[in-house]
Amino acid sequence: MRPEILNPLFTEVEALKGVGPQVAKTLKRLKLERLVDLLYHLPTGAIERVRAPAASAALLGRHVILDVTPFETRQARSGRGPFRVLAGDADGNTITLIYFNNPGWARKTLPMGEARTVSGKLEAYGDEWQIIHPEVAEPGGAQQPALREPVYPLTEGLTNRRMGELAATALERAPELPEWVEPGLVSREGWRPWRAALAQAHREPGSDDARRRLAYDEVFANQLALLLLRQSQRRHRTNALPGDERLTGALRLPYQLTGAQRRVIEEIRGDLAQQVPMLRLLQGDVGSGKTLVALMAMLVAVESGAQAALLAPTEILARQHHATLLGQLDSLGVRVAILTGREKGRARESVLMGLADGSVDILVGTHAIFQEKVAYRNLGLAVIDEQHRFGVSQRLLLSSKAERPPHLLVMTATPIPRTLTLTQYGEMDVSRIDEMPPGRTPIETLVISDEKLADVIGGLARHAENGGQAYWVCPLVDESEKSDAAAAEERAQVLRLRLGGDRVGLVHGRMKGPEKDAVMTAFASGSLAVLVATTVIEVGVDVPNATLMIVEGAERFGLAQLHQLRGRVGRGSGKSTCLLIRGQNLTESGRARLALMRETNDGFRIAEEDLRLRGPGEILGLRQSGEEAFRVATVQDVEQLAPIAQSDAQLLLDRDGGLTGERGRAARVCLYLFERDQAVGLIRSG
Ligand code: ADP
Ligand code: MG
Repeated sequence: MRPEILNPLFTEVEALKGVGPQVAKTLKRLKLERLVDLLYHLPTGAIERVRAPAASAALLGRHVILDVTPFETRQARSGRGPFRVLAGDADGNTITLIYFNNPGWARKTLPMGEARTVSGKLEAYGDEWQIIHPEVAEPGGAQQPALREPVYPLTEGLTNRRMGELAATALERAPELPEWVEPGLVSREGWRPWRAALAQAHREPGSDDARRRLAYDEVFANQLALLLLRQSQRRHRTNALPGDERLTGALRLPYQLTGAQRRVIEEIRGDLAQQVPMLRLLQGDVGSGKTLVALMAMLVAVESGAQAALLAPTEILARQHHATLLGQLDSLGVRVAILTGREKGRARESVLMGLADGSVDILVGTHAIFQEKVAYRNLGLAVIDEQHRFGVSQRLLLSSKAERPPHLLVMTATPIPRTLTLTQYGEMDVSRIDEMPPGRTPIETLVISDEKLADVIGGLARHAENGGQAYWVCPLVDESEKSDAAAAEERAQVLRLRLGGDRVGLVHGRMKGPEKDAVMTAFASGSLAVLVATTVIEVGVDVPNATLMIVEGAERFGLAQLHQLRGRVGRGSGKSTCLLIRGQNLTESGRARLALMRETNDGFRIAEEDLRLRGPGEILGLRQSGEEAFRVATVQDVEQLAPIAQSDAQLLLDRDGGLTGERGRAARVCLYLFERDQAVGLIRSG
């Protein structure tokens, strides 16, 4: 239960004076629903104003505070165009005050012949002085413009002044909270207490101390939660899976394992042999051969008498994994089944029965495989492919369900920068495949203007005539699946006219599973030369004969996403090419991003760059999934602070594992403040 002291922070904004349903609705657009949201809605800068006796050239472009007296109003006869109020200053200059809306308000607040204080940016228009939309106060009245006004991120219908007032009210209501940061750190950094730091961050937007403290709080809550998750998972005991090489030794592969594959397989074997459940993240760039590592791990489980499950993010991938495993495992007598949303009726029943009675050794599937109704006889290992779609909360759910939780291996092809590894996966051990299978020729990447689309299509036709295969990826349009599908449909039509109707396949998110499968199968078997797709092919699809990747509207994709797409080719020994087709109105940064893609194949470098350009939320798709997105902490903050916060949190747990001491209880408040209620449930009792 949330500590009472936090209650005021979690009241709805509507409880504030002067916030009715309309204002609440406006605030909601900025995701400001509770007091705590207002507190953490920090100003990004400040307007500095100068109080001046009169307008002068020296003040041009500055925000001024002037005393003026209005003497005339003007409005174009048509009623169109701005409403103007002419006013005189102390030196007898005329200053035109311009309003593009709300002339009624202007008439009322600027009565002719009465002195008023106006503030706004002083501009020159021809030889006239003007201020657009000045704020107005009565001289000496209560609403005097401040010399320094913090500037807030706003939305339509909300003025900066109003936002400032709301922040001030929220601050007044905010309680002092007990200190959760380690005292030594507080004094070393000279940090103020939480409430004072917030107040300062609102008052002095430039103040780095306050911001850093607030960033630290977030990162600390995150690290503490992950440590609690790790700790609680380590408290469980599960079955050791020592393996006996009966299956792993008998597996015949057409190639040698890379050194990196061998190393991570050993790391995993070491974990599986323990009764403490494995909690391991396997990172490896696209095409580095993670599937094989998963297969070996699953075989260790099976030869130890347990079952294994492999969870894929999409149905296409699940089917592909299933087919691969069937091919490799049939001769070993390992029984593999598949379960997705599509297996229904009899087929589903029979898989469920096989899992319950142990006649299925390995299950491949989509999220369906961890649903309520799926009961395993003895699930020893769960492998999750493409981790970035599978967040902390799902991990919590998976581990909390089982009495004896399975060993857990999560695999991601997103080369996550170290910073993010710590904040997103801090509870896990990490293995890295940092070596590609041999014999791959580097992919050549070219950036081409969409004016040359006809040439690209011509090149594609020649590629297909020579027996080559290719992907053609269409970008997301307007975030609507419908129009994405339509755009892809259209592109497929055009290509069919040129290459022949039976040579071009199409997959997009609105197609049904079986339809998609049929197309993918046809492409994998080589009967289709071109696969037109929206980004559904982004993850994992493996067709070695496809050596040409064309991405339309490339500037609209994230770098990490482009890297993933490019990783679909260059899987066989043939030379592969990636054509990034760009639009004509490329921004400076768009140009730089595409240039980086051309320059490097190094997934880590690309991920670091993507992180810098787009922030942590975007890169992992976390923003959509509502996972770790920090409100204050920037990437740089996280980089600096996460290691400190991690050891701080660890030290606290070492001293006071139940979080019952004074600082321990403060840390609980911190967890609740950042809504990690689930993590509080994991604190060791007694
Ligand atoms: P990812 O890490 O992206 O999941 P995959 O597991 O799909 O990569 O492997 C990519 C391709 O590399 C597959 O065709 C796979 O058969 C092949 N492969 C995997 N390991 C090796 C190896 N050691 N030597 C040669 N090819 C390999
Ligand atoms: Mg894969």
